Amino acid sequence: MRAQPKASHFIGGQWVEDPAGAGFDSIYPATGEVVARLHAATPAVIDRALAAAAEAQKDWAARPPVERGRILRRAADILRARNRDLSVLETLDTGKPLQETLVADAASGADALEYFAGFAATVTGQTIPLGRDMAYTLREALGVCVGIGAWNYPMQIACWKAAPALAFGNAMVFKPSEMTPLSALALGEILQEAGLPDGLFNVVQGMGDVGAALVTDPRVAKVSLTGSVPTGRKVYASAAEGIKAATMELGGKSPLILFEDADLDNAVGAAMLANFYSAGQICSNGTRVFVHRAVKDAFLEKLASRAGRIVLGDPLDEGTQMGPLVSDGQMRKVLDYIAQGKAEGARLVCGGARVGELGCFVQPTVFADVRDDMVIAREEIFGPVMAVLDFDDEDEVIARANATEYGLAAGVFTRDISRAHRVVGRLEAGTCWINAYNLTPVEMPFGGVKASGVGRENGHAALEHYTRIKSVYLGLGDVDAPY
Ligand code: NAD
Repeated sequence: MRAQPKASHFIGGQWVEDPAGAGFDSIYPATGEVVARLHAATPAVIDRALAAAAEAQKDWAARPPVERGRILRRAADILRARNRDLSVLETLDTGKPLQETLVADAASGADALEYFAGFAATVTGQTIPLGRDMAYTLREALGVCVGIGAWNYPMQIACWKAAPALAFGNAMVFKPSEMTPLSALALGEILQEAGLPDGLFNVVQGMGDVGAALVTDPRVAKVSLTGSVPTGRKVYASAAEGIKAATMELGGKSPLILFEDADLDNAVGAAMLANFYSAGQICSNGTRVFVHRAVKDAFLEKLASRAGRIVLGDPLDEGTQMGPLVSDGQMRKVLDYIAQGKAEGARLVCGGARVGELGCFVQPTVFADVRDDMVIAREEIFGPVMAVLDFDDEDEVIARANATEYGLAAGVFTRDISRAHRVVGRLEAGTCWINAYNLTPVEMPFGGVKASGVGRENGHAALEHYTRIKSVYLGLGDVDAPY
């Protein structure tokens, strides 16, 4: 199986290759096959991408917003028309089952392009009466924005960053994760086909050093990273050094709280989605499932029976519900956490092992009787491993849910409407769900608090993160000088 792109990088509307850059492969984690070979960007390639972006941005920002929006809207239509091909590409790059990529990746990217296409022309400033004088504000583009992606939702991440950046008049240089380099290149071609002028969306490949070189370049006005907390600390510090705007979408260890009056079947379904979708490789996953002691046994019984029926296997078969982890390294990390959970005395309810010898498959795994101090309850595993913890009352569970450095997301299941809002109000998380989990429509702002990040993607909130305000004071009378 091959998915070799025309070249490693897409810059100024052209395919660019520089074999002097370190070689790396895109590997299909279901079989270990190499699907594409690429080269990391050299300093010359990075410079070319930033120069192309800087050159194209000014004219783009000066265009009527409705025109910018029209191009993005066209790109959304192309993405949807090619959804199947793009989904196969994403499946080869990530190993996620086609059943998921068909609905969650290019589809979500298209939603972002469509949403921000419509948003572009609605952006206005304020007029501020000051008596005799007045002031007004202009919403201006920031300039060249750098996007750096993680490997779990490569196309979605590229679109969630590029769509608002471009809609509001910026240019973007995007570096996908070195594990999943392919779909961002496809996006570059599609944007060009939709009419995006050359240089406004550039893709450069490489590891962390390429990301770091982009972040430190003085031509860059803003950095948006989706990645782990350790990387976030480095990138945020480097952005601060250059006084650049930054959005950090980082990791989590989110709580999902199931009260005794919850609809148990829905709660079980949500807990499974919150731990097993994308083989558990989702930043906002509810990996600490707090279940009220009164319903714990019933919950675990239903959960074990449903988890045991998850269809794991060939990601390209649309009947498959769970694929492999993204890489051998990620699989080994997850298996180590499972071993640690067993060693720490958590009770294995189901799963707990690798599946087969070929590919990076791990069984959907549930641990019960997990304590807050266990490593599997504290660290982000990023695999199909659910930790179930018992609780007795509301104050206790809120305190325990908040006792983490992370604050990306949280969920509450209860039929008591007052309790639902009261609890959500006290949870330290950027995104919360009541009687739902992990739904992230583009209309809703998304992002974290505490170590899980700063800034928000999507929704009206994205405007704050891809534009700046210029204030203009308008003197309407004589200048009142004391000299
Ligand atoms: P990672 O932090 O290892 O890498 C993320 C990206 O940063 C990659 O493109 C990588 O090449 C780049 N990078 C690494 N070091 C860098 C440096 N010093 N300077 C600049 N760039 C650098 O993360 P990952 O393993 O690819 O992704 C998994 C992580 O991403 C998890 O922690 C997950 O929770 C998080 N994530 C967060 C969100 C969110 O929206 N909050 C979404 C998806 C994934």
